[in-house]
Amino acid sequence: MNVAVASEPTAAADLGAVFHLQREAARREISVAAAVRKDRLRRLLALVTDKTPDFEAAIDADFGHRSRHETRLAEAFVVESAIKHALRRLDRWMRPKRIATELPFWPGMNRLMPQPLGVVGVISPWNYPLQLTLAPVVGALAAGNRVMIKPSELSPHFAHLLASAVGERYAADEISVVVGGADVAQGFAALPFDHLVFTGSTRVGRLVAEAAARNLTPVTLELGGKSPAIVDRSADLAVAAQRIAYGKLLNAGQTCIAPDYVLCPRGQEESFAEHFFRAAHRLYGTDPQNPDYTAIVSDAHYDRLAALLAEAHDKGARSDARTSQAETWKRLRKFPPNLVFATTDAMRVRQEEIFGPILPIVPYESAAEAIAFVNARERPLALYWFGRDGAAREHVLRETVSGGVTVNDCLLHIAQENQPFGGVGASGMGAYHGEWGFRTFSKEKPVFYRPRASGTRLLHPPYGARFESLLALLRRVT
Ligand code: NAD
Repeated sequence: MNVAVASEPTAAADLGAVFHLQREAARREISVAAAVRKDRLRRLLALVTDKTPDFEAAIDADFGHRSRHETRLAEAFVVESAIKHALRRLDRWMRPKRIATELPFWPGMNRLMPQPLGVVGVISPWNYPLQLTLAPVVGALAAGNRVMIKPSELSPHFAHLLASAVGERYAADEISVVVGGADVAQGFAALPFDHLVFTGSTRVGRLVAEAAARNLTPVTLELGGKSPAIVDRSADLAVAAQRIAYGKLLNAGQTCIAPDYVLCPRGQEESFAEHFFRAAHRLYGTDPQNPDYTAIVSDAHYDRLAALLAEAHDKGARSDARTSQAETWKRLRKFPPNLVFATTDAMRVRQEEIFGPILPIVPYESAAEAIAFVNARERPLALYWFGRDGAAREHVLRETVSGGVTVNDCLLHIAQENQPFGGVGASGMGAYHGEWGFRTFSKEKPVFYRPRASGTRLLHPPYGARFESLLALLRRVT
């Protein structure tokens, strides 16, 4: 098992050279057979399966400590499932789709023909490096594309392992991994890709969209934001708190779709806290050495979380962590779960995506107030609703807009390969996963087949009475 980090970032000239190699190959092979796509997907499946222990070790090294079980479940398993899903359905996805034809064009025929776009760029973050790098690659390969990948510089062990594993199994014109920091990322985003997928922060997402716009490169932006968990009065508080604790504490809260804050019926905050800590301690215990609980990725990220809490305290908030061994937590760069009460909009915990195990509890009186709270902010990547009252649930679903929703649990909508995954507004644009990824990375080319006998010639010049009566007829029947 090799977790050494090679130090050389990819040079700008090499970036361009790899891109041109891939582009040439893509332009030579416009039509990519199902067998070729499946072979590339199968090699990816074998790569993930064979290298899972190495990925676990690499990601563990990148985080300081990352639960190997969580790497296996939330990363390797998710990617393997996505590949198997695609392999099973690829023939159907690739088939040109029959599309209805409007009456004036009968008996003509419409077909929607999916074609590879060419070269797809993937820029990925550090928090689930394996999943968020390879899940878009699954869609891109299924759609017949060449792929260039730029993983995060904050997961260097992972990035170098991926680069060498991909190098062993793919030609450079099929998939290439480039490594390096923000300068390499900038050069990468400036390449004239046929499509660019970026997963990361909203701030960098804007920069990527700007760079891509110069090349008219379409983008899928998978960004972050503050995802609410709404606990309805009809909810079983113990069950809701337990599921919110899992959703928040997986990967120590460093999850794009983690519940960022809880909207809790006023008066039930303390009871929620009791249930939350009971669940948190059942999941991860109280000892910072617990190997199931993941560390914060860097000192800077750790300090930022500590600063968020300190600022909230200074401005009058109260936090509850129910823990001891402060020094050990800090030495292991593990951040204990913290609930925060009496927050206000003036505090950073209410302004910034938290991205760690800090959970503000925001009390509300009425469902309308909870909905207004969500709608007064940027559109979130995820929304969670807990309760038993169907009418209240449908009301919240109708009156809020978010990237996705899980009802009565957290996170699970991302695992639905049959549904699109993506943000809206500040939480992103476009979507992928399953067939939605295949379609995102394909040019769906509409083709109209003119029938041998067609009346459309009757609408050509010279215009006159025939034209007028035919147009009048068409206006009546369409
Ligand atoms: P980040 O935006 O700091 O970095 C993401 C990637 O962008 C890295 O590979 C980095 O090298 C690259 N990058 C940096 N500067 C760049 C530039 N100028 N041009 C092009 N690329 C550049 O994000 P992060 O800290 O790695 O990840 C955390 C964020 O990602 C959080 O906001 C989280 O919510 C979000 N996220 C979203 C999803 C999703 O699916 N929507 C998933 C995971 C994380």
